[in-house]
Amino acid sequence: MQLTDDIQFIKGVGPKRAELLNNELNIFTAKDLLYHFPFRYIDRTKFYKIAEIKSDFPNVQIKGITSNFQTKGSGRKTYLTADFSDETGTIELIWFKGVKWIKENLTSGKEYIVFGKPARYGRKINIAHPEIDAPETFNKRYSSSLQAVYPSTEKLTKKNVTSRVFRKIIAGILENLTIKLPETLPTYIVQKYHLLSFHEAIHNIHFPENAEKLKRALYRLKFEELFYIQLNILKIKFGRRLKYKGFVFSKVGNYFNKFYKEKLPFELTNAQKRVIKEIRKDFASGKQANRLLQGDVGSGKTLVALMLMLIAVDNGYQASLMAPTEILANQHFKTINNFLKTLGLKIALLTGSTKQSERKQLHADLQSGEINILIGTHALIEDTVIFKNLGLTVIDEQHRFGVAQRAKMWKKNIQPPHIIVMTATPIPRTLAMTVYGDLEISVIDELPPGRKPVKTIHSFDGKRLQVFKFMKEQIKAGRQIYIVYPLIYESENFDYKDLEDGLESISRAFPPPKYAVSVLHGKMKPEEKEKSMKLFVKGITNIMVATTVIEVGVDIPNASVMIIESAERFGLSQLHQLRGRVGRGADQSYCVLMTSYKLSKEAKIRIQTMVETNDGFQIAEADMKLRGPGDTEGTRQSGIPFELKLSDLSKDYKILETARHTADLVLREDAELKQDKNQILVKQLKTLMMRNKKWGAIS
Ligand code: ADP
Ligand code: MG
Repeated sequence: MQLTDDIQFIKGVGPKRAELLNNELNIFTAKDLLYHFPFRYIDRTKFYKIAEIKSDFPNVQIKGITSNFQTKGSGRKTYLTADFSDETGTIELIWFKGVKWIKENLTSGKEYIVFGKPARYGRKINIAHPEIDAPETFNKRYSSSLQAVYPSTEKLTKKNVTSRVFRKIIAGILENLTIKLPETLPTYIVQKYHLLSFHEAIHNIHFPENAEKLKRALYRLKFEELFYIQLNILKIKFGRRLKYKGFVFSKVGNYFNKFYKEKLPFELTNAQKRVIKEIRKDFASGKQANRLLQGDVGSGKTLVALMLMLIAVDNGYQASLMAPTEILANQHFKTINNFLKTLGLKIALLTGSTKQSERKQLHADLQSGEINILIGTHALIEDTVIFKNLGLTVIDEQHRFGVAQRAKMWKKNIQPPHIIVMTATPIPRTLAMTVYGDLEISVIDELPPGRKPVKTIHSFDGKRLQVFKFMKEQIKAGRQIYIVYPLIYESENFDYKDLEDGLESISRAFPPPKYAVSVLHGKMKPEEKEKSMKLFVKGITNIMVATTVIEVGVDIPNASVMIIESAERFGLSQLHQLRGRVGRGADQSYCVLMTSYKLSKEAKIRIQTMVETNDGFQIAEADMKLRGPGDTEGTRQSGIPFELKLSDLSKDYKILETARHTADLVLREDAELKQDKNQILVKQLKTLMMRNKKWGAIS
């Protein structure tokens, strides 16, 4: 037998099962089957007594004697039953299929070991289609107490392709392979970390000799999984370094210094200072900076971006800042203009709403170098936008942009500009290292002084009147309030609150002239949005009724209450983003999470997490645990370029670190993997690349 053999010719599979396995699990070859790993193990040393068994138990194992075999029913619906007794009682075993085989192979009055899921039928407990072994074969088969349980699908289970079947087929393959499974890691790495050989690891993950061996098998295979992901990403990074030089920003000049000494209205936080220092080092290194700047909402990333752009300008380059929404681009433009007025720089704004007539001039000024800093939305990446000499581009809320969009900014100069991507949706470190392994990471882990943590309260829909009362008190104290809805209009499909309906009740509860309300949602025209926003920014309206369009970036310090309707509808990091809109001024801020009384288990955990912590990184970790790494807010947009079969990024941090460190060492010595000892890596990377088409798309 060969590893490449088509599974349909493998004993116990056949064409029908083969087709199922192809379609359901993408399993085509013997090798694929060996890579179909168990997700847990059952302890087969534990035996139950019949008297202990209840129908809601999971699988149980019992030792007893069969008797009283009876064929019942008629025609196609015949089935077989037998009594199964130990000294404490009797249960029934039932077979609807394979009756003939059972009759021929089981003997009445003999001792067997039965394993299966108990169920209640009338007053009796029975087990349908138990796994059944004579004590002799049992001891041989389960010399180890750990029995593999395989992931499966509904269709496969229906067709009786159970864990038992997987075990049989895989055991068959392992027995019939004439070769030792070829090693997939270089010997020097296997030796350095005392890893099990690939051969031994595969044997032990399917049929553990003992708990210790299983542990080592898992370690080896997880290490390998993470190592190749790291090797792939870091190889791209090393390759990029070889291929591109970076613009050298050798000095900090007048603009930066003047701003820092004369214009900056407050002291930078230590974290801001540290991050600027880290990035300045990149700028001066002669290598292109490609860095992720993570910082919780309100940590002052915009200011950092601004100061970095001044360094670019000081060195004779242009800089750009790209934001995912027009509202945010407008706000950045205003903030930055405000900070930089009187410095004599030319700063321009380019969004989808920029008029054609203005665009022409803007394009010309950009090409002549007249414009120093360009701020805008994804309008910036259009091909018609040509810079004279773009040296730095900052991408705000980068997870809102796709890989392809970000890649376009790379092409805005003959050699790529320095790239800083910013996010307030912190990505757990392990995930960032795996998804963005190609990026260096800086973290602003400190908020500007004087901020009071936002108090978060969970309130049920029935308590709305109390919430209104609280809102009135806050407005009386001069504060402003956001109310966010998951939907604009009522939906037939979801039972969630909608903005239209909400606005009506808010308008009734907060009537003019005493109160004024602004509205903001995605279906409004840009001018309307702008107007609505302005009224709220100026404090003319007290309440902003909105959808999640206000989620990112908006900065209005006087707004101190965030009410989120149908909060159960939102993901954790979205809730965290929304909450980040308040708590920006000196006053105590509040976030009220309104939900219905019915909450799913996950929704409860989300709400509880929000009430318990304000720390974006903790929230990101919780999010990853709830949804898995591919579906956290931080990765969903760009997608996660691999599938992890064994490793769990919320638990396997240590293995990941070792894997990354190892990959880094390998590449430092042999960036292009040319040495003999590394050829096995080249080969394995190629195989993996063919399996994971997405690996090619890593930015
Ligand atoms: P984010 O990181 O969420 O983008 P912003 O850049 O919008 O945060 O900053 C939030 C607010 O904090 C802004 O009003 C900004 O002017 C202010 N800010 C930034 N840095 C400091 C600082 N070092 N001290 C005081 N306030 C600061
Ligand atoms: Mg921001």
